[in-house]
Amino acid sequence: MRVLLIEDDSLIGDGLKTGLEKLGFSVDWFENGIDGKEALFQMPYDAVVLDLGLPGIDGMSILKDWRGQGRNEPVLILTARGDVDHRIAGLNEGADDYLPKPFSLLEVQARLNALIRRNNGKPAPELKANGVSFNPQTREVFFNGEKVILSPKEITVLELLLMNKNRVLSRETIENKIYTWGEEVQSNAVEVHIHHLRKKLGKEMIKTISKIGYMLEEK
Ligand code: CA
Repeated sequence: MRVLLIEDDSLIGDGLKTGLEKLGFSVDWFENGIDGKEALFQMPYDAVVLDLGLPGIDGMSILKDWRGQGRNEPVLILTARGDVDHRIAGLNEGADDYLPKPFSLLEVQARLNALIRRNNGKPAPELKANGVSFNPQTREVFFNGEKVILSPKEITVLELLLMNKNRVLSRETIENKIYTWGEEVQSNAVEVHIHHLRKKLGKEMIKTISKIGYMLEEK
């Protein structure tokens, strides 16, 4: 899942980026409102974490502008503790949830997963197909009841395929979701992840759709 993070406090921003990436998210982090606002139009994001007090443009104006332009990505706003006015204003401007600072990483993870699930119309926390089950909160994968050890990127690819089961995903779509800006990407990176997933979950799990991409077809 690819997340856009706009936060000018370098300690919080760095902590969130590092922490969320350890939990399997791909995070693009911007420290000012102007670049962060633009970024939403450049990449397909599954969710946004937005601080309100930012240099350039404040978070509330960014949110208002996005919603005004019809962008409906789920947005989690970060507010100062006890800042009830901002919290209410944020929700009124179209934020989907808020977290008062200080917060724990696991709280951010839980809120993001809930927002992404809601946005995808999937109320069940577990994603399942063909004997594979994945829990987005614990990042654990089971295949026919047995726990399977996958790398964080493999888990991200699998999650994406499960969320879009019976739909073909292009290689480019997968690549855009699993890598962040500035990350070195090998041209065959997606193929390599798919290859490893097939080794661990059986050849039949992921179908190659010639010249288009990949699909996890529910049988
Ligand atoms: Ca701030």
